[in-house]
Amino acid sequence: MPAQILDGKLIAQQMRQKLNAARQALGPRPIRLVSVEVGQNPAAAVYVRNQQRAAAEVGIDMEVRNLPLSTSETDLCASIGELNRRNEVAGVIVQRPLPPGIDPRVVQSAIDPNKDVEGMHPANMGAILYREPLLPPCTAAAAQHLILATGLDLRGAETVVVGHSEIVGKPIAVLLLHRLSTVTVCHIGTKKLVDHTRRADIVVVAVGKAGLVHGDMLKPGACVIDVGINQGADGKIVGDVDYTSASEVAGFITPVPGGVGPVTVAMLLRNTLRAAGASV
Ligand code: NAD
Repeated sequence: MPAQILDGKLIAQQMRQKLNAARQALGPRPIRLVSVEVGQNPAAAVYVRNQQRAAAEVGIDMEVRNLPLSTSETDLCASIGELNRRNEVAGVIVQRPLPPGIDPRVVQSAIDPNKDVEGMHPANMGAILYREPLLPPCTAAAAQHLILATGLDLRGAETVVVGHSEIVGKPIAVLLLHRLSTVTVCHIGTKKLVDHTRRADIVVVAVGKAGLVHGDMLKPGACVIDVGINQGADGKIVGDVDYTSASEVAGFITPVPGGVGPVTVAMLLRNTLRAAGASV
């Protein structure tokens, strides 16, 4: 039986409806999310437009600041400092990639942790070890949300996370550990990936390599969450999982595009409303 598709677009739309209600409850005061970009990046521009459209739908005013490519790390941090002090600014995000010479970790640390709606300030990243923080990293939270949407019982479930980056792999692994899943993290040093993926009830792939995980690497009925975003041979966007073969074996699967991506944007908006004081 072909896998059930985890429709991220639909799930994100349902989330935005809920978020809209939470936003209304905050009253008419402006709630602003500021996106800061250094230089122009066409790929980021598409992403920012999607964020802006989704923000408008839930009543969040998203301001886009494009700083010149010549902006120094010190100037960028000063600009963030000014946003930290503005009351109507609930959230600040810094679009990546940043130009060489600007350390993303320094910049992320310059954001007030209470306005760090990407959940990547060291204080928020550290807090995740204790419990799910108020502002979790958006992609990790989106992956978890999609897994929970299946209704699977995470307690004791074997989860394999492929990829151990700070922004995706590691936080996903920790979020699922909090739910008592038995989590294995695979990465570039893993000797035989298939030995791990084949015994997993849940496979989360966040690597950035098209077709890394095939159907024959999966346990029948597994839940497959594909975080990867890659440009396919024909120019189309594809994930890290070979969708055609995997959907014949998996029980649940996220498509790319239309899976983790839209839910990640919805999580960014949820974090922004939480930073503004909403209980959502
Ligand atoms: P990264 O480059 O920081 O990390 C890649 C990870 O993959 C590393 O942990 C590395 O050890 C591992 N890896 C590399 N080759 C491997 C192999 N052959 N086998 C097993 N592991 C291997 O990447 P990232 O920032 O975590 O992003 C991963 C992917 O997720 C990218 O395609 C990125 O575009 C995408 N992404 C999507 C979203 C979203 O919202 N959908 C958000 C962030 C990132």
